[in-house]
Amino acid sequence: MSPIRTCIACRERAEQGSLIRLVRVGDRIVDATEPRLAGRGAYLHRDCFDLALARHAFRRTFGPGAVVEGLFSGGESHEVEASPAAR
Ligand SMILES: [Zn+2]
Repeated sequence: MSPIRTCIACRERAEQGSLIRLVRVGDRIVDATEPRLAGRGAYLHRDCFDLALARHAFRRTFGPGAVVEGLFSGGESHEVEASPAAR
């Protein structure tokens, strides 16, 4: 019964309830799953965070200049602009 959404990293479809909802607020990308924040949302598997960074999925989805708050990887923040594959 849950709506189907596409993960921005792996592009696989999944039930909305199994994905994290992300929204850009100012220059930050935050977890907007609960409470459900208004705004342009995107969906991501919790396990796909690193893949999303590697594929620049956040920048592609939300545009440049945003920072992903450390919700997934031990509290680190990630500059979306940075390229983890740069070296
Ligand atoms: Zn995924």
